[in-house]
Amino acid sequence: MVSKHFGESWCHEHLADQGLIQLLEKVDTDLVQEARLKGCLLCGGKLHRSDCERKPRGGPQWDVRFSLCCSREGCRRRHTPASVRFMGRRVYAELVVVLVSAVLHGLKPERVHCLREALGIDRRTLERWRQWWLGIFQESSFWREARARFMPPLCHKTMPLPLCVSFEVERRDRLLDLLKFLAPITTPTAWKGLVM
Ligand SMILES: [Zn+2]
Repeated sequence: MVSKHFGESWCHEHLADQGLIQLLEKVDTDLVQEARLKGCLLCGGKLHRSDCERKPRGGPQWDVRFSLCCSREGCRRRHTPASVRFMGRRVYAELVVVLVSAVLHGLKPERVHCLREALGIDRRTLERWRQWWLGIFQESSFWREARARFMPPLCHKTMPLPLCVSFEVERRDRLLDLLKFLAPITTPTAWKGLVM
């Protein structure tokens, strides 16, 4: 029997962890409540919930991304807060994008094939993610600022694997910390600068 790559096992464990799935939804609930309390950033008006239908491809079984809308006539601006579940307009859950992109580095091609089959992700999608982590993500203002806190500097050729290793994401609470760390780039506004 071929032994599994170390990252592959925590990747599978996290993706099957229903407690984690619920926890992420809870964190997003907190994030939307915090944003609601701040009110409309444009006019100071009250915000009300106006969630957007979002079902991540291949699961987890989430139905909506939490969002807010200004209640003031003439403004009605939508405010979609940061999330630990959804990453901009990506159709897969952030958890999947991060973990799968990380474990790809170091996996043999046949294991990559198994992982793709198991999660129903096509080759081009994986390649797009890889390119994004190696290019746009690292050139983003978010990462240019954030990378300074990692000493020694993280290997840029295998991102996001070194991020996962640095956060010790085999632990559920540390994985949550990583997703919170990345949350600022998940809003539609931030995402505009992060797409190819
Ligand atoms: Zn407003």
